[in-house]
Amino acid sequence: MGMSESEKIDALIAASKALYERKLIHAAGGNTSVRDGDFVWISQTGAELGKLTEDKIVKVDLDGKVLEGTAPSKELGMHLAMYRARENAGAVIHAHPTYSIAYSTLIAEESTDSIPPYTAAFYVRAGRVPMISYHPSGAHSLHEAVEALAPRYHALLLRQHGILVAGTDMSSAIGIVEEVEQCCQISVVTGSNGASLRETQCRAIDKALGRSWDNVNQTS
Ligand SMILES: [Zn+2]
Repeated sequence: MGMSESEKIDALIAASKALYERKLIHAAGGNTSVRDGDFVWISQTGAELGKLTEDKIVKVDLDGKVLEGTAPSKELGMHLAMYRARENAGAVIHAHPTYSIAYSTLIAEESTDSIPPYTAAFYVRAGRVPMISYHPSGAHSLHEAVEALAPRYHALLLRQHGILVAGTDMSSAIGIVEEVEQCCQISVVTGSNGASLRETQCRAIDKALGRSWDNVNQTS
């Protein structure tokens, strides 16, 4: 038995407050969602996540059709791209954490493995994290870029903007956000001169977790 609809909405509200209190989102930036089968609950556009209430949550289907409430986040397309591509995704967070953004501005070019794995905790939860080039917030081109990567990656760095992660549930999604932000912080404070895990160490973790970055739809 999974969580009921009201339990999922409660989890969405609690997670949004936690992200705000941990300064992983600020003011009205960022958006959060949870999924139950073919339905998604997402924060309303412009909602302040630190003060999220049930009337500011919008129910949509996987095509983005609004079923309850009004005006879903303009980043709905990024959330839906993750849910459509990843059947195990139960929660998606888009946040604007300071060090993740700082780090994204320091990388010379986009790659599919943009964040050095300084800790096993990061690599276990986030794994390989591609960076998407700058797109305006809410742009269709941004949602398309996410759509292209979502089948293979559950955490994405958005240049000069923030991060997008999908987890099996809200608590796993928050854990991924925290690990990505901490790894970006380590990268910034070490000037990327620190020693990250070696490729063989990463591959041993992948093997233990039964995942491969060549395959689509792995568990997040
Ligand atoms: Zn944003």
